[in-house]
Amino acid sequence: MAFHIKKNLNNMKVSEFQKLMKDLYFHQDTKRGIEKTFIWLVEEIGELANTLKKGSELDSKQISEEMADIIAWMCSLANLLELDLEKALFDKYPNKCIKCNSNPCCCSEL
Ligand SMILES: [Mg+2]
Ligand SMILES: [Zn+2]
Repeated sequence: MAFHIKKNLNNMKVSEFQKLMKDLYFHQDTKRGIEKTFIWLVEEIGELANTLKKGSELDSKQISEEMADIIAWMCSLANLLELDLEKALFDKYPNKCIKCNSNPCCCSEL
């Protein structure tokens, strides 16, 4: 079977990345289910926490890999829940802060 790389990975939209995760892993995600997939996402957040705890020896390659894992598992979870993450992001984070309507945000809270 021929395998085609359709898109330059450096130029991907969120929806395209979510679709890539579906193409690669949906058959496995479906077998694992929502709850275990969520646990994997939390596990990856824990891995990022451990990487950041190293303090002065921060390893930007390892941090990047853990952040990529977190987004990948989030996409797997969104696929199982049939949610469009790109739409979710834009609805919640349009080109301005949805509380103060400004860009950059001028809300007082941290
Ligand atoms: Mg990881
Ligand atoms: Zn704001």
